[in-house]
Amino acid sequence: MAVASCPACNGTRLAEIYALDAIPVQSCILLDTEAAARDFPRAPLSLVFCDACGFVFNPRFDGSLVDYASATEESQHFSGTFNAFARSLVDEIATRHDLAGKTTVEIGCGKGDFLHELVSVTGTAGLGIDPGFLLDRFVAADDHAIAFRREYFDPAALDMAPDFVVCRHTLEHVPDVGRFVGDVGAFAARKPGSVSFFETPNVERVLEEGAFWDIYYEHCSYFTLGSHARLFRRQGMAVDHARLAYDGQYILQYSSHGKDSGSVPAGQDDLERLRALAASFPGKVARVRHHWSDFVRQRHADGRRIAIWGGGSKGVSFLTSTDIAGAIAQVVDINPYKQGKYLPGTGHRVSAPDELLQAPPDTVIAMNPVYRNEIAARIAELGLDCELVAV
Ligand SMILES: [Zn+2]
Repeated sequence: MAVASCPACNGTRLAEIYALDAIPVQSCILLDTEAAARDFPRAPLSLVFCDACGFVFNPRFDGSLVDYASATEESQHFSGTFNAFARSLVDEIATRHDLAGKTTVEIGCGKGDFLHELVSVTGTAGLGIDPGFLLDRFVAADDHAIAFRREYFDPAALDMAPDFVVCRHTLEHVPDVGRFVGDVGAFAARKPGSVSFFETPNVERVLEEGAFWDIYYEHCSYFTLGSHARLFRRQGMAVDHARLAYDGQYILQYSSHGKDSGSVPAGQDDLERLRALAASFPGKVARVRHHWSDFVRQRHADGRRIAIWGGGSKGVSFLTSTDIAGAIAQVVDINPYKQGKYLPGTGHRVSAPDELLQAPPDTVIAMNPVYRNEIAARIAELGLDCELVAV
């Protein structure tokens, strides 16, 4: 595998820490038939660690295989936990920045829910940009100034100067992160005093825990608090505030333009720790995959019925990065847009929680520990008596 240099820092000391022969090239997509789901294209994946900046990326990523304009289903907005988090984030932004009468651009706005909330609460005008935006799913029953463009972010195509740039759960999909952050920085710099807010998954716990279900094809770029901040500083931006949120799963970062103070807060000084984590990751992830394989196989051999709760990318990765798919009886998701459709790779049909009553599971594996209480409550509400574990 010939990888010349790190897309974040151009470093050349790179080490492969993970590899899969084949994984579905989209894990958020849902198919209408089981056959189409099983035949869904796969591609090899590997993860490489940059010793110079701590960035982790998939050098075998081929963006042409991923069609973000297709019917992807990345919205987590059906979860009460996620909604509460997004709402608190809107309140935080509104407290930190007076956006009334100003202009906010959200790059990678998905279905537009967050931007709509931000516009409603702050009184900013909002422009959402996303090739996967679907107008028929957007409900805007008000007179707020909000607009959408169904395209990829290209500053040359935008004749405007933003006061606030939002970019949530998008940077991990970008292979050339140096150029992308440079573009966002130049775009935001059109307006003196503008601020950019990024929310990006945190890979540190994935490295610590061997959490292979958080590695999937569309995510070609993986950050920690430190590697995320280093990338922005290298592109001439100042990192004003950065922290972890959502049980440590997400990096939240506010950046501005002009000179960085140069002092690096303790949480961002993580390179030595990352080098150690990268070195131990191959052994760790092998043990964790083995653990889940044993867990599922033993229960299956005992005649127990096993369901997975979460028909999103974590579930798809969990099922297609292991050899246990055949032992999983059912996949459940609370999102009505997913129900009745089929997961790429294994072809599992996504059921509504109520359908568990027809064939009650003995074990439910929750694909995100953050939702564990929410799932436990739903299981109790259904009157089911089963083992609940979270990855
Ligand atoms: Zn690097």
